[in-house]
Amino acid sequence: MERLKGRTALVTAAGQGIGRASVERMAREGARVIATDVNEAMLAELAQVPGMTARRLDVLDGTSIAALADDVGPVDILFNCAGVVHNGTVLEASEADWDFAFDLNAKAQFRMIRAFLPGMLAKGGGSIINMSSVAGPKKGPVNRAVYSASKAAVVGLTRAVAADYVTRGIRCNAICPGTVDSPSLHERLRATGDYDGALKAFIARQAMGRLGHADEIAALVCYLASDEAGFTTGTEHVIDGGWTA
Ligand code: NAD
Repeated sequence: MERLKGRTALVTAAGQGIGRASVERMAREGARVIATDVNEAMLAELAQVPGMTARRLDVLDGTSIAALADDVGPVDILFNCAGVVHNGTVLEASEADWDFAFDLNAKAQFRMIRAFLPGMLAKGGGSIINMSSVAGPKKGPVNRAVYSASKAAVVGLTRAVAADYVTRGIRCNAICPGTVDSPSLHERLRATGDYDGALKAFIARQAMGRLGHADEIAALVCYLASDEAGFTTGTEHVIDGGWTA
């Protein structure tokens, strides 16, 4: 399937997990892909994939984002995937934790959209996909206070962009995954000190009895990026194995 043929896509946090699966699938679906991340070793691997350009980008750095937008020119698809999980209740979070989570999970998307939306408007259209989570917009999992708040902010930003630019060919949608098998998930499991027990608990809360696969989320990303989703904007797409059913 070459749904994205002739399109240019830019993805943040493409080095591993959902971002990685998404850039690989986008390339398979015919897009010219600009894969960005802070991790240079991961970028070196991505640069080997046919159809892929790999560029270092720290989404916390507005100056670098503006420079990259100038350098690569207009894109048709922007997938804002970067994010971090803060683990803990509201009493276990500092102001610095809150600020960092909002900077990476929400404000970075604002920066990216401000840098790449003008090019999309000049082209007459584009699809923006913002990574949220079921945590926040759809559910209040325990020990995810700051994370959930920041992921709920993503949905507000998504709706605002969708509403403001719906008549100018721009679609903007959010993705709300449940628990997805990714390298950082395994780090979080190890950090609990009881990897097997924590993994069991994560799987148990999934109605389907398994974690999501990054490529299942990538399939949704590619759908939202493509013209098949041409009538879809301002939505929160839940993809959680029935966790919130
Ligand atoms: P991950 O956490 O394993 O990988 C994150 C990537 O982000 C890494 O490649 C890292 O180098 C990059 N990164 C970190 N800081 C960055 C920065 N400042 N600028 C650019 N890149 C940076 O990947 P994942 O678990 O697939 O998560 C990706 C996104 O999906 C996140 O926004 C996360 O909140 C969201 N999400 C994940 C799950 C899950 O269960 N894995 C569920 C819901 C939502």
